[in-house]
Amino acid sequence: MQATKRHIWNGVIREFYDLLPGIKDDSIVTLREGNTPLIEVLTMGDLFGKGIRIFLKYEGLNPTASFKDRGMTMAVSKAKEEGSHAVICASTGNTSASAAAYAARGGLRAYVLIPEGKIALGKLSQAMMHGATVIQVEGNFDDALAIVKEVSNTYPVTLVNSINPYRIEGQKTAAFEVCSHLGYAPTYHFLPVGNAGNITAYWRGYKEFREKGIIDTLPKMMGFEAEGAAPIVRGYPIKNPETVASAIRIGNPSSWENAVKARDESGGVIDMVSDDEIINAYKLLAKEGVFCEPASAASLAGVIKMHKNDIFKSGDTIVCTLTGHGLKDPDTAIKSSDKPVSVEAELSKVVRVLGF
Ligand SMILES: *Cc1c(COP(=O)(O)O)cnc(C)c1O
Repeated sequence: MQATKRHIWNGVIREFYDLLPGIKDDSIVTLREGNTPLIEVLTMGDLFGKGIRIFLKYEGLNPTASFKDRGMTMAVSKAKEEGSHAVICASTGNTSASAAAYAARGGLRAYVLIPEGKIALGKLSQAMMHGATVIQVEGNFDDALAIVKEVSNTYPVTLVNSINPYRIEGQKTAAFEVCSHLGYAPTYHFLPVGNAGNITAYWRGYKEFREKGIIDTLPKMMGFEAEGAAPIVRGYPIKNPETVASAIRIGNPSSWENAVKARDESGGVIDMVSDDEIINAYKLLAKEGVFCEPASAASLAGVIKMHKNDIFKSGDTIVCTLTGHGLKDPDTAIKSSDKPVSVEAELSKVVRVLGF
């Protein structure tokens, strides 16, 4: 047999070159992010009835296991092109993991500020392993973001939070992939909302495909905050946001206005789900064979909530973005599951436990 050379995915900057801000090829810092699977839900038919198709955009399969890599390849590449030697971010975890990895890859230093004791273990381990300077602040994400903005205004270091416009540019490529995989735009696009960069990015991506005539219709954008961290839904910043979904534990989102615009222009909603609804959806997804982190499950929790409001029609296509991989947060996974049974290493005892 002869090995056939197939197209190998080159990462979002090279694959979507004409749809992104220009960049010199030798500045591109990539780990071949993107090209994540769109997985159709098979086991939840009873929940939603016939004629409605639900797809999961499994962003946990990016190089650092969250969608942040799509924006980080752009932001770090641009920082490199502009001659910057260091990047800085505030993070609920995944931005720091991604910044640390892409900075390492590009030969830049990374400084990350995280809320002390509040980020999932997998994410912390990534930032540490990739050699970032990790600073835990005694405060929340919003406090950390205010500090890194100041630092980047004053010192020679590039801010790579999603207020960096290149982050949003890179992240819009996920919408391109959804359309390319389906062959059309979905009816609804559900996603969790934290700092609200991702809902902004998807909406931009869909609109650009529409302007180019690649798709005929636009989805309704359906963003879901966690009940204890729902500033957009409530209409005011939340001082002490609280939720099990640590990636969206944000009280004053940077892209607040753009999220509202995405909702209003698309005819969608921004709503909230409780921690119980999030954990329920997280477990349903695991039963489907797809392991995501709690924040990601806010998207499916949103679908379940909207189904109760009876908004879906036969023929609707729903896409849920699963923003990060479940392995990021093993503590919540273990807390949400039955404990393994302990038994002596004896055949008869094991068989009894198995119930045969
Ligand atoms: C960053 C992040 C979010 C929130 O995305 P925003 O762009 O800040 O709204 C949701 N889920 C996960 C896993 C994330 O890492």
